[in-house]
Amino acid sequence: MSDCLFCKIAAGEIPADTVYEDDQVIVFKDIHPKAPVHLLIVPREHIPSLKEMDASHDALMAHMMRLLPGLAQEQGLDNGFRTIINTGPGGGQEIFHLHIHLLGGGRLPGFG
Ligand code: AMP
Ligand code: ZN
Repeated sequence: MSDCLFCKIAAGEIPADTVYEDDQVIVFKDIHPKAPVHLLIVPREHIPSLKEMDASHDALMAHMMRLLPGLAQEQGLDNGFRTIINTGPGGGQEIFHLHIHLLGGGRLPGFG
């Protein structure tokens, strides 16, 4: 998608503070961090949101999930971390290219 911010970051057209990348994903620091550690795990493939996932994405999703503990450990999150996927306007999604938020390093608010 030519007008998608995360596609442009994945293509290297817009700079990001990248901490990891491979042939399937790129991981960079959120530009407005909500916690001391706030990473975004972004597939290179343009998938707008979880709503567009299908069976062809099974291996990609598993890959992204399995990356999380190692990324957290590299960031020093020995005590645990939080993952969030916002989906659609009702879920607070602002960038319509699927991504997983990885947060930690401070006292995260509870869910009530
Ligand atoms: P979401 O609301 O789940 O779509 O999350 C989008 C996230 O992308 C927000 O936390 C933003 O702070 C973050 N963001 C927006 N632009 C950039 C950028 N250029 N580089 C890194 N993170 C960004
Ligand atoms: Zn995209």
